Amino acid sequence: MAETRIGIDLIGAKGGVATTAILGLTLLQDGLMPRNGLVSELPPFREIGLPDWESFVVAGHEIRRGPLLEHVQWLSAKDHIISRDLIEQFRDELDAIDRHIRPGTIFNVGPTIASLADMDLPHDETPRQIVERLRADFEQFVHTEQLEHLVVVNVASTEPPVADALPTTWADMDRLLDDPHCPLPASTLYAIAALGAGHSYLNFTPSPGSAPAALDELARQNNTRHYGCDGKTGETLMKSVLAPMFARRNLRVLSWVGNNIFGNMDGRVLDDPANKQAKIASKDHLIGYILGYRPKTLVSIEYLPDLGDWKTAWDHIHFSGFLGVPMTLQFIWQGCDSILAAPLVLDLVRFTDLARRRGETGLMTFLASFFKSPYGISEHRFDQQCRMLEDWAQGK
Ligand code: NAD
Repeated sequence: MAETRIGIDLIGAKGGVATTAILGLTLLQDGLMPRNGLVSELPPFREIGLPDWESFVVAGHEIRRGPLLEHVQWLSAKDHIISRDLIEQFRDELDAIDRHIRPGTIFNVGPTIASLADMDLPHDETPRQIVERLRADFEQFVHTEQLEHLVVVNVASTEPPVADALPTTWADMDRLLDDPHCPLPASTLYAIAALGAGHSYLNFTPSPGSAPAALDELARQNNTRHYGCDGKTGETLMKSVLAPMFARRNLRVLSWVGNNIFGNMDGRVLDDPANKQAKIASKDHLIGYILGYRPKTLVSIEYLPDLGDWKTAWDHIHFSGFLGVPMTLQFIWQGCDSILAAPLVLDLVRFTDLARRRGETGLMTFLASFFKSPYGISEHRFDQQCRMLEDWAQGK
């Protein structure tokens, strides 16, 4: 057993990203996996004291029933990501993690996510009671596994945006937990439960999570840390690499259209226009930040069940060069969504643990390169964001 034990509580533990991260971590712990796709395995991060893969213990929260093993097997059956034989080898490890998966909450998640919930979830809880229950789950995990540090990671379905303006101080936000019309969604209740108890929190989704300023205050009060939001894994990663090129060559972008098609359960949830709104905003806004002006942009996300976890993004960029001559760049990105996302989740947890050992609290802006909408900064250029991570790694 590794000396340090670090817990990961995955909110949305039976989804595509979570199950791929769980299986990937199990394979890493067994020494069976190449390190491709893992940023934290790159040379600048090898000697900085990141925790070993063996240090991690996984738990989670969910709203769908069914053994974890079945949800992992679904990856193999439907999307042909991982061989069934390999999954069978880790049956015992997956069953052990399954015993740590607790019922979550569907408070203010909207009808599309609520319709997925077939687990026996507690009824009629106030937001404060939900937070207390989640907090008790976290404490039990920490206690039974003797954890030195717990990182709660939101990889649950994307919630619709919150319409109401939220309080900016923790005192006012805290009062909302007793308000019968509390507008806070589940993702923010999980974040409050985690940060209020001094655990770290990461939001891999575009849901509100710990975005409200009041939660940063809560994190600092409790000497803990958080960051998000919305993992940058594919089409938006390409945008953050290519847009700086247009800016630096003074090529004026006239329009940038991104079409995304995929068929996993995330796609099914994003097919609801309310849930889709949060994702589109997160995929669209960085172009204007990077270029310094706003060309015409359009992002579409279409759900095609037959494509499963295999996403295709086709981007059409129309730009104007010397003498005003118009030209075009097009790219097609074809990737497996969970395979792109899962290693980033594992990297994020490793970096977060080092931030804890360095005594850092509040927003972890050095993690910006991992997110489409990084909290608290407007630096969206991928190269600059990577430099921020490398500088942080060297203690600069
Ligand atoms: P998924 O639909 O496969 O999994 C989501 C899981 O969350 C499901 O098991 C669902 O039952 C569970 N869930 C939903 N609401 C919950 C709640 N309130 N409490 C607990 N569990 C809940 O989706 P996915 O492909 O795994 O993606 C997960 C999240 O990560 C999505 O929000 C997605 O937008 C985001 N994300 C994914 C990628 C990627 O490349 N895959 C990139 C960036 C962001």
